[in-house]
Amino acid sequence: MTRLLIVGPPGSGKGTQAARLSDAYGIPAIATGDIFRHNIKTQTPLGIQVKAIIDAGDYVTDDLTNELVLSRLSETDALDGFLLDGYPRTLAQVTYLDELLSQRGQSLDAVIQLVADKEEVVTRLRKRALEQGRTDDTEEAIRHRQDVYARETMPLIAVYRDRGLLIEVDGLGEIDDVSTRISESLTAREIAPVSL
Ligand code: AMP
Repeated sequence: MTRLLIVGPPGSGKGTQAARLSDAYGIPAIATGDIFRHNIKTQTPLGIQVKAIIDAGDYVTDDLTNELVLSRLSETDALDGFLLDGYPRTLAQVTYLDELLSQRGQSLDAVIQLVADKEEVVTRLRKRALEQGRTDDTEEAIRHRQDVYARETMPLIAVYRDRGLLIEVDGLGEIDDVSTRISESLTAREIAPVSL
């Protein structure tokens, strides 16, 4: 089973590509942002706790996020393979994931980085705000999320590059073209999709 991460700035199309990879590789796509949003929508104690943080475009604490991921990765569908979308986002989360996987005797196969121009992703996010009405998609919150990403999450890229796991993919252009770039890069590393 394949174990992948997908990273990229907000609006780089991670969610879209993650869904496709999930189908192709037969692994669950686990997006921490989606899980948080679901908790907010259904007004769970966790949702109530994190709503203001997420609306402001800040990161939820590492402790809460790590706990959420531990619980999700412990579900049966994610025991062997998974694609994490939007996690880890801080160096502390990288360390936590490393320990979690090492306890399970597992390792990551690759980290896909979607590279996208800042102004382009802001435009995309403003469009999504109109389409989906996400409460963290105001222009101010979007700009803030880009800044937080640059400060907190960009350093992770170097970590995974040093480990030889990083696959950089141009995230601009048609969705199908981006998917093709990703699958070609994975195949080149002998990370093969499930045969149907
Ligand atoms: P996303 O849908 O991935 O853009 O995530 C939406 C929001 O959820 C982010 O702006 C953060 O507030 C929060 N979030 C998602 N994943 C994480 C994470 N790994 N660490 C901290 N906060 C997160």
